[in-house]
Amino acid sequence: MDKIIETDVVVIGAGPIGLAAANLLADQGVNVMLVERHAGTSDEPRAISATDETLRVMQQIGILDRLAPEMLMDTGARYFGRKEQLLAEVYPASPRLGQPGKSQFDQPVMESLLLEAARARPLIDVRFNTEAFRITDGPEHADTVLIDDDGKHTVRSKWVLACDGGRSPVRSQLGIPMEGSTQVQKWIVVDIINTPGQPERFSEFHCNGTRPVVVVPGVHGRRRYEFMLLPGEEAAAVTAPEAIIRLIAPFQTIVAADIRRAAVYVAHQRVALNYRVGHVLLAGDAAHMMPPFAGQALNAGIRDVANLAWKIAANVQGTGTEALVNTYQAERRPHAVDMVRLSHRIGIVVMNVNPALTAIRDAAITASGIVPAAKAWLAGMKFLKQPHFTDGCMAAPGAGVPKAAAALVGRSLSQPQVTLPTGDAVPLDTVLGTGWALLHFPSDGGPAIEVRRLGTDGNGTEETDDGSSPLALCGTTAVTDTSGAFKAVAGSGVTLVVRPDRYVAAATTPDTEQTAFDALAAYVPELNLLRHAETGTPAAR
Ligand SMILES: Cc1cc2nc3c(=O)[nH]c(=O)nc-3n(C[C@H](O)[C@H](O)[C@H](O)COP(=O)(O)OP(=O)(O)OC[C@H]3O[C@@H](n4cnc5c(N)ncnc54)[C@H](O)[C@@H]3O)c2cc1C
Repeated sequence: MDKIIETDVVVIGAGPIGLAAANLLADQGVNVMLVERHAGTSDEPRAISATDETLRVMQQIGILDRLAPEMLMDTGARYFGRKEQLLAEVYPASPRLGQPGKSQFDQPVMESLLLEAARARPLIDVRFNTEAFRITDGPEHADTVLIDDDGKHTVRSKWVLACDGGRSPVRSQLGIPMEGSTQVQKWIVVDIINTPGQPERFSEFHCNGTRPVVVVPGVHGRRRYEFMLLPGEEAAAVTAPEAIIRLIAPFQTIVAADIRRAAVYVAHQRVALNYRVGHVLLAGDAAHMMPPFAGQALNAGIRDVANLAWKIAANVQGTGTEALVNTYQAERRPHAVDMVRLSHRIGIVVMNVNPALTAIRDAAITASGIVPAAKAWLAGMKFLKQPHFTDGCMAAPGAGVPKAAAALVGRSLSQPQVTLPTGDAVPLDTVLGTGWALLHFPSDGGPAIEVRRLGTDGNGTEETDDGSSPLALCGTTAVTDTSGAFKAVAGSGVTLVVRPDRYVAAATTPDTEQTAFDALAAYVPELNLLRHAETGTPAAR
């Protein structure tokens, strides 16, 4: 038998989710082998809408400055009815995460930048033309058999992350069922280039009741068209250039050379029953698939790996318990289920071709204009519920924690620009680093925030006897919340405990701090140790 190759984590699939996972894992200091059966990243026309949270992760990985010029930032959506009348114009309500709520991008561009970033990280071993063939799980690790041009190899790792797409061979091998259904309707998706003029910052949903159409603008003359196929239409016929030119004619005149790519797809609305079996975890389309109408699928996958990467890394490094890894499903699956449902519901509204029902739909949506709350809900895209964990690696706020601070627990922390003592304004995340952080709002300190960074990479980090590296205080920075993003908790004396994925794990006052850290110790015991080291009180290990 060949020598067994050892690594910390095997990531299967170099789609956007596997690529993002590999980068995030490497930034937490673990060795990653990323395997992809194809020769390179994909050039298929797929995701086109990115949320603020996805862009925040791209910022963290360090590719946003190159991705942004290839994107149409900060877009909304317009819905048109059966007579092409404007039914609703929606726009994401006040983004909090330092990035616009919705922007248009090009998936192949994002994948190639993520790949470049992965190749630049020495901890990642990127292997194309390499298929994960079989996984054998054991008590301490998993063995993955890979097949490449040289034959079969076995890689032993503590964790395997299956980012192997909607058909996920790993999910099949593990026998994990998917709950949900497949849409009856098929769609043709066409990406075109050379569109003249400046793009409007709105996607268009033409819910015309005959052949629903989605039009999405892009930069550099790019534009996406999606048409619902009618009964009897075949993929080969509708993807012929002359058929595409005819379909697009009501919107613009194109020639065959303007067609960049076209494909017919059918959407699924399905979620895996379990996200983990033994040392194998599912993420991205392997864990959930949804119709594209809410533009959430890739975004849900990015949320998955942002949630999971630091947990796996902490476990590999000995600072995170097995219970920490298990919080992945509790925190991520409910939101994925919500997004699948929402995408399905929007699809029902958009794809309806029944004359009576579309007339009622148009009247109902327009009528919501007379109910201010409903209008604000629709116009602000509040139907896109943001993740809010109530179960997982978090501590429920204790009595006495101000309401405004308690409301932040289980949610993604805002990312305003903050001012450093030097007077420079920077995005908050640049101060937080890659590990845990404590944000203290001194009593009567006005807009001042003391940021204490914890990590395994700072001064004072020592190997423990068992080889694991404890968390250490990496540094403290005093910043000013000049934008007032945290004004509801300013001067409250509260401390927010922020995880490496920027979610708030706890909000504490001096009276509730001990209980909160005790609760978090089930997941990251070192947090408690560190707190005791800081306050000078003894703690049992
Ligand atoms: C028309 C369309 C429009 C869409 N629009 C949006 C949108 O606007 N917004 C949005 O968020 N999402 C959208 N999506 C969905 C989005 O494209 C997917 O969610 C995303 O590609 C999922 O990424 P992934 O990495 O999980 O899977 P994939 O991109 O499918 O990547 C999986 C990778 O794993 C590899 N692989 C599989 N098995 C193995 C193996 N055994 N060994 C090695 N490698 C393996 C595959 O070759 C592949 O490269 C859209 C999808 C479509 C089809």
